[in-house]
Amino acid sequence: MFDIQKLIRPHLLHLKPYASARDEFKQNADIKADVFLDANENAMGSVSKYFHNRYPDPLQKDVKICLSENFNYILKNEIKSNEFVFSPNNIFFGNGSDEPIDLLIRLFCEPAKDQIMICPPTYGMYEVSANIHNVGIKEIALNSDFQLNIPEILKNIDQNTTQNIKIIFLCSPNNPTGNVLKTQDILDILQKTNENSSAIVVVDEAYIDFVDNQCMWLSQLHTYKNLVILRTFSKAWGLADIRLGMAFGDELLISFLNKIKPPYNINQHTQETALLALKQWQRKDNFVAELLEQRIFLENELKNLPVIEKVYPSDANFLLVKVKDANKAYQFLLKNGIVVRNRTNVKGCENCLRITVGTFAENNEIISCLQDYAD
Ligand SMILES: *Cc1c(COP(=O)(O)O)cnc(C)c1O
Repeated sequence: MFDIQKLIRPHLLHLKPYASARDEFKQNADIKADVFLDANENAMGSVSKYFHNRYPDPLQKDVKICLSENFNYILKNEIKSNEFVFSPNNIFFGNGSDEPIDLLIRLFCEPAKDQIMICPPTYGMYEVSANIHNVGIKEIALNSDFQLNIPEILKNIDQNTTQNIKIIFLCSPNNPTGNVLKTQDILDILQKTNENSSAIVVVDEAYIDFVDNQCMWLSQLHTYKNLVILRTFSKAWGLADIRLGMAFGDELLISFLNKIKPPYNINQHTQETALLALKQWQRKDNFVAELLEQRIFLENELKNLPVIEKVYPSDANFLLVKVKDANKAYQFLLKNGIVVRNRTNVKGCENCLRITVGTFAENNEIISCLQDYAD
């Protein structure tokens, strides 16, 4: 049986969290309060034309209830799974998904002692967050097909009494490579770490909306209590500006994240925007369909260009491409007013550019620009 207490930093097990004014008083059925003199807010109003004078709900209950209802609908009707009922208590919201990444490291990793495991080339924030906290980084590079090196990963988990690897970060679909990681590989890691409570496994699903089977790992949360799933409103939902990231996990694990988070980490405007967005799930799915159509178009056009040596297969809203000289191609595009992500300095992505799928007009612009480019 997985025992989270073995992994949490000992001094956080009994941490007394900050109790905010809005934590202390909870609106309930018996008492209907309407005079709030508990939080030193400006009762007169707000300098903003919007009413920003009140502190937001510290636990974002309304958004969590709405999101969990959506997931339960999907789990029950689309993947016919009755095993797991998703509760608002399985959800943590962060200021972007970068906040849960940071909080997970704070919760489990002792500075100058513990490590995280990452599988590069991958998303850069795991490493940055670990560095901020003086937490070690065990790198097990992806294979040449950008899949996990399972024998090496399992070997390191076996040696974990000396390695102190507390969190394994897996990104699927992976950024910047674009591919999903093999299900069986992730299962192997989950099983091994779950049975001896040796590590938390984080599956970062920032790009999951662009994949067919979106609930594979959500439906496993009840089986693997060491599994944490990250998602975000920044990509498919088109809400990068509201800074709302999600972490899903076992209720006990989520309760510890709530204890260590900044009390009012999600502002009211963000909560309201997210709630409205969740009621328009179909609009998000329509965006995804359009973007996937554009990705196919962009991929086919790029493949025909002499400058492009390779377009890597993508399960996300971007394409990783290999060129002869990425720095030169990057500068050329920039001179023409087109900004892409130069990943040439990332190990395993030498001479690669990451191109986000744009509108039809934008995609045509980068294609015609690259047609004029000679290496
Ligand atoms: C974009 C991205 C995120 C984070 O996004 P937020 O805007 O902080 O929610 C997380 N993981 C990966 C892999 C990403 O590409």
